[in-house]
Amino acid sequence: MPERVYLSPPEVFPGDREALLEAFDSGWIAPVGPAIEAFEKAFAEFMGGGYAVALGSGTAALHLALLDAGVKPGDEVLCSTLSFVASANAIAYCGARPVFIDSERESWNLDPALLAKALEERAQAGALPAAVEVVHIYGQCANMEAICALCAQYNVPLIEDAAEALGARCEGRPAGGFGRMSAFSFNGNKLITTAGGGMLWSADQEQAQRARYLASQARLPDRGYLHEETGYNYRMSNLLAALGRSQLANLPERIRRRRAVFERYREALSDLPGLSFMPEPAECESTRWLTCILLDTEDPPVEPEALIDALEAENIEARSVWRPLHCQPLFQDCQVYGGAVAEKLSTRGICLPSSGMLTRDDQDRVIETLRGCF
Ligand SMILES: *Cc1c(COP(=O)(O)O)cnc(C)c1O
Repeated sequence: MPERVYLSPPEVFPGDREALLEAFDSGWIAPVGPAIEAFEKAFAEFMGGGYAVALGSGTAALHLALLDAGVKPGDEVLCSTLSFVASANAIAYCGARPVFIDSERESWNLDPALLAKALEERAQAGALPAAVEVVHIYGQCANMEAICALCAQYNVPLIEDAAEALGARCEGRPAGGFGRMSAFSFNGNKLITTAGGGMLWSADQEQAQRARYLASQARLPDRGYLHEETGYNYRMSNLLAALGRSQLANLPERIRRRRAVFERYREALSDLPGLSFMPEPAECESTRWLTCILLDTEDPPVEPEALIDALEAENIEARSVWRPLHCQPLFQDCQVYGGAVAEKLSTRGICLPSSGMLTRDDQDRVIETLRGCF
């Protein structure tokens, strides 16, 4: 059996190991230390300003962003349906209820027309949602011009789940830089990794400070242990922050490589009948974190499941596009606006091995296996 080709394995660059060991040797083996501050500062610089708070996961960042926006038990939060479960779990942690919004075909992300409908209906009923949570999937931004305008019009806070979109841009601005707060993930499969970890970003220093306080068990700056409210143990370890800072330094190269992997797939597969790629709207710069294909004909010569099986038989990992959250048993009682677009993307879409470290030979194996199915 040839060696397994993974979907998106952790990518280690020269310097990562040294950075980690340097933090280890410094003695700061704790969720405090100079590497955390350095990582947060470098991250904020990458975002073009603002304030970053390093956390134990992207899910923790989302949770704190929603809490900071004032999301309370019983509230509604409008959320993209085409996403990983973490997007909606963070809403549930607040005791709030997700209301799901379908994708648009242009970006595969939240459909602004359906968001407008959901907001208008709620405004008429006199019960606006506590927040809108937009997800930028697979390294590509949603239509932020339209979404920001709607949130401003109804004065509803916008939270960005940018877990998959570090380094993506929309109209030249970075993913995560549009809303009140945003969440990034450094899980092992993401563009940069700290083994597990996340970052919360805000343009506002006080908001970031409050998130940092909530992430540290809501401990008040007092000599004794003084607490007025429930906090969380969400801070990132200094060791992992050192790794994260080292990984962040190579971000442009990582994006360049992922985009090159995508280009190669596009050149090699575009002629196959009924096969298309996740579109990239003109105002968006995708990182192509994952290369996604869609089998989109009435009468496809091959079913998506058969492609995944054929790749698996060659020891190649491929996955279907996210199962929409409104289709999850967990959220079966939640309202959804539309849903058919995300359902189609999920049942007809496949994510291909997309690592920036993918060798030409391994990519050729993926390409040949796929072509062999048609
Ligand atoms: C990975 C991911 C998360 C969660 O990040 P973790 O760091 O694993 O907690 C949230 N939302 C989306 C869309 C993700 O892909």
